[in-house]
Amino acid sequence: MSENNSEKSCSAFLKGLASWFGFERNSNYVRNYFADVNVHTSVYMSFIILGLEIYVMYYKLSKAFDAGLVLKGFTLYREGEKYKTLFKVLKDNLLLSAVALVMLLFAAYYRKNAHSGDQKLRRKLTVFSFLLDIVFSYICLYFGFVTSRSDYEKGNQILTFVTMILFVACLLIWSPYASTVILAVIFWCFLRFGVDYFALTSVNGSNGDRINYATFFISLLMVSFSIYHQRKAEAIKDESLESANRILKKMTVTDDLTGISNMSNFVYEAKQELADPETDPKSLVFLFVDISNFGNFNDKYGYEEGNKLLRRTAEILTEAFPSSLVARQSDDHFVVLTETANVKQLDVVKERIREGYTDIRLGLKAGGYYPADRETDPNIACDRARYASTTIKKQFDDDYAVYDETMADSFARRQYIINNLDTAIENGYIRPYYQPVVWAENHKLCGFEALARWIDPDHGFMSPGDFIPILEEYRQIYKLDLAIMRSALADIKRSMDMGFPGIPVSLNFSRVDFERAGLVGELESAIRDAGIPRELIHVEVTESTLSQYQSRMHETLTELHDKGYAIWLDDFGSGYSALNVLKDFAFDVMKIDMIFLKGFESNPKCRVVLKNVVDLAGAVSMRTLTEGVETKEQAEYLRSIGCERLQGYLFGKPMPFEEATQKISDGTLVVSEELMIPGTDAK
Ligand code: C2E
Ligand code: CA
Ligand code: CA
Repeated sequence: MSENNSEKSCSAFLKGLASWFGFERNSNYVRNYFADVNVHTSVYMSFIILGLEIYVMYYKLSKAFDAGLVLKGFTLYREGEKYKTLFKVLKDNLLLSAVALVMLLFAAYYRKNAHSGDQKLRRKLTVFSFLLDIVFSYICLYFGFVTSRSDYEKGNQILTFVTMILFVACLLIWSPYASTVILAVIFWCFLRFGVDYFALTSVNGSNGDRINYATFFISLLMVSFSIYHQRKAEAIKDESLESANRILKKMTVTDDLTGISNMSNFVYEAKQELADPETDPKSLVFLFVDISNFGNFNDKYGYEEGNKLLRRTAEILTEAFPSSLVARQSDDHFVVLTETANVKQLDVVKERIREGYTDIRLGLKAGGYYPADRETDPNIACDRARYASTTIKKQFDDDYAVYDETMADSFARRQYIINNLDTAIENGYIRPYYQPVVWAENHKLCGFEALARWIDPDHGFMSPGDFIPILEEYRQIYKLDLAIMRSALADIKRSMDMGFPGIPVSLNFSRVDFERAGLVGELESAIRDAGIPRELIHVEVTESTLSQYQSRMHETLTELHDKGYAIWLDDFGSGYSALNVLKDFAFDVMKIDMIFLKGFESNPKCRVVLKNVVDLAGAVSMRTLTEGVETKEQAEYLRSIGCERLQGYLFGKPMPFEEATQKISDGTLVVSEELMIPGTDAK
């Protein structure tokens, strides 16, 4: 164990040492960072060198002219005799200037091309920049050495050489081992030959100067090492920040499920596209694409398969509309901004979505909106395209509809509903009306159904038909249902406080309520807050809400039922799969749809059908209620065949709370002594 530990710490030490000397594989990002910084530094260095050299050349020449030398062509003459060529006098300075110029030109080229995204080119540039540094360094050192020698011969210090060493060290920071090797070679040469050459050793024979220079060398190395490590730490920090940024950016622009653009990115890019002076907005169309039958598909194959289908649809759309903007808006809704000529691609999309699925007929319902000008808001454009698609929702063979001005009014109303739902709830514009439910036997009141009404200061009185389908489509209905639930509970409490008996109220819930988690919890806490017993609440779900594959819904209903809420099956008979639903869940009450009463007076078959439905309910142990009872004959017939409860205009239309309590007080509505059926409505 301890051997293992010492092995570990030994290898950690070696690793640390290697890293200290720069023997490590840095990421591309860190390498590029060093190259960038290096090139940046070399620009300053080159400028300094160029400036200095120009000055030195000027200085040399003016000294020569002062001394009486004359320049003819490129040759200097002293007292009429050829002295030296200009090149010979200035060659060191010219060489250094030339290298500095090459460095500058290279830096300009590097800045222009290194970030173009071409990784191969970038690697080449990085290697070239390091090689250039080395060449530049040696030329600087050579120059420093030569200058210092001539200075020394004139009795001056060897400062130029020392400065050049410092200068070079700055350029060699990209890797400690490289700086060590390069600087060591320089110093070794210097200590071995230079010190003797300059006779720098102290007079008394001690190696004082040698030691001083060695110390200078070591300090210089340490400084360059520490700068290297500091730069590396910066680069690593930058790298992680940048990658975090990249991830964040990806998260904010793409749709999690399908990987294509999300809505906010779509809106952003669509705005850019419209604003582009090269784009003709009239050549574009916003498309809204809804997969038809997706709900059934999901029910049958489950969420996983449903998600797969959404991913495939995203892929198909991206392929069918190349170089267009494609995004997922929500659920099975996609949006596209494309050239008008591409609309026909929708047929291709439809065909491809269908591939492989024969039992559920998938299809498309698409809407189009042609932007009026560059200022068109993409959000509104998508909503209009969406609206156009809803106008053909129920048409079997129409796949595509274009938004036009005739749709403007209803579209505006729809937008109003979506945009004002929250405020309407907050301000109490949406509240329940109560429709009486009576016993068929004696027509005495045994409950109410809470039905939503939106009484809007601008739009006036709105019935559920005006807003429920829209709220369902936009999956906002749960907000309304929860609001109605809270108001109804508060009203029950209020009526009991006023001295009325607790009269049961049935509440309508939609599919979305069950798809969201937490319905049971919300109902339970509202019940607790209001302090009323659970049996006063009946949960109504329509047959179309239910589906045999929806296990979440099934679980929620069972949970509610176990807790003591009666579950009523609403609108029985209005859909197609009525009988299937009966075997899937043990409902307490069947609400027979008013469709069965259509033609009651004229068509004798109506009675036969009704009787059979009531018998069927009895056979599966369900109680019965018939809705939409408008005449005494209907009521009497329903009583005679054993339907237990009735609801309809004959006994009262949906009315506000105050009116309902008033009607009870003045005896128009007589509350039954038995409000519930033990075992069905109450446990
Ligand atoms: P529903 O649950 O089947 O409600 C019964 C509807 O039939 C009500 O329409 C009611 O006014 C109407 N009705 C009642 N008796 C008669 C009658 O004798 N003759 C005729 N012709 N009609 C009668 P309403 O209030 O317009 O509600 C329509 C639908 O809107 C409801 O149908 C229900 O599905 C939905 N709804 C209403 N309130 C809510 C709610 O709070 N949440 C949810 N999710 N849906 C609601
Ligand atoms: Ca209902
Ligand atoms: Ca109903």
